[in-house]
Formats: sequence, C-alpha cells, structure tokens
Amino acid sequence: MPDTIQPTTPPPRIKPGAHGFFLDLDGTLAPIVEDPQDTRLPERTRNLLTRLVAEVGGAVAVLSGRALADLDRIMGALRLPASGSHGQELRFGPHAAHPDAEAEGVPAAIIDRVEEFAVLHGVTSERKPGAIALHYRKTPDQAEACRGFVDTLTAEEPGLRALHGKMVSEVALAGIDKGGALERLADTVDFQGRIPIMVGDDVTDEDGFRAAQARGGFGIKIGAGPSAAHYRLEDVEAFADWLEEILR
Ligand SMILES: [Mg+2]
Repeated sequence: MPDTIQPTTPPPRIKPGAHGFFLDLDGTLAPIVEDPQDTRLPERTRNLLTRLVAEVGGAVAVLSGRALADLDRIMGALRLPASGSHGQELRFGPHAAHPDAEAEGVPAAIIDRVEEFAVLHGVTSERKPGAIALHYRKTPDQAEACRGFVDTLTAEEPGLRALHGKMVSEVALAGIDKGGALERLADTVDFQGRIPIMVGDDVTDEDGFRAAQARGGFGIKIGAGPSAAHYRLEDVEAFADWLEEILR
C-alpha cells in the first residue's frame, strides 16, 4: 500500500474502552482562528473530552506543535498527558510537574537569522523548545518566502529540519516528531495494551498516524489533503460528532 493515500472513509464507530487517544489541538479539537493566541477549546469538545478521559481511564493525550505552556493555557482545567513543540516536550501524566524536554535547542545563530528574517518580512517569529517558528496567517503573501527561507536554512544544517504546517513554517531539531511522542506516551501505564488512535489535520500529524497504525491502531485525518491515515473526517465539528457517537 502506498504510504500516502487519499482516505475517504469515516472511522468506524468503535467502543472507546480498549483504545488510547492521541489528539492534535489546532484544526482537530479547536477551530483554527486568525491569531493563534485567540484559539479556544469549544465547550462541547471540552465536555466530550472529559467524558472520554473517564471512559478510557485517562488514556487521552494531546500532541501539539504548540509549546506545552501555551497548550496548557488553552486546555485549562482539562490537564492531560501531552506533547508540545511537535514531540520536543513530553508530559507523561496529567499532574507531572516537570515536562521532559531535551536540553538541546536550536543554535542561537540560527534563531538570530530567523528573527531577522521575520522583522524584514513582517511575519511573526516564535521561539519554542527545540524550534523556532515563522507564522504568516496574517501575511499570507509571505508564505512562499518563509517556506523557502526555512527550507534553505535547514538544508545547510544536518541537525535541523523544516516543518511546514498551516500558515506556519518552523526550523526544528531533526529526529523529533509526533510519531516519537506517540511511541513514548503509548508505552506509559495509562496507554499500555490499548489500541492507539491518532487524530490530526496537518502534515506534522502524519508521523503520528504512521506510529499509531504500526501499533495496530489507526489515524484519522481531519480535512482535505493527502494522508497516510486510514480514515478521514471533514472538520473539527465532524470529529466532535464522532466522539459523541462513540461515547453514546
Ligand atoms: Mg493541527
């Protein structure tokens, strides 16, 4: 089977009890908004997640490209095992005080070059653990310039890689991704012996789909675009509908 296919099938109506859930935030649990700082978790989704956590004994994790602190701000009281910054930060339990972040970061000289580029091109840069991002949702005409810059910069440095998401391009440490985060979380006590389900909307979720499927589970791609996931749902709302259905 080709690695990247176009799934059109909605996911089956499973019984959640035997599964572990790995969920992306932006574009999966929460609708994408113009300013990433304005993102809110819809009340309905928050209630469904709370029920899901109880149903599966805590086997629900959030895997986001956001820094963990930012992720926690949006999730609020719903504190779950989580991975931030595309796998760079990991928190294994809901109450673990100290996330497990790699000590190593993006070299300062690279950060300087990215920040200088951001100023010159009128886009927003964001320092995160293990990455520096360029956001261009407000200046979409800069998309190509940002992507090209990040590709060129990372091609020069073997320890770094380019990550292109929706209206964001990042210079990130190589060898760390959502697939690795899923692997490590899936081996923790809450997730052990459970069939993993990875749900996400973006290119960076593909590593997670592959990891879940390699462990006998499945991926659900939210929205359009090629994907290795076995199943697809149309949007944030459709995913909430599916959650509601399996919790019935
Ligand atoms: Mg997303």
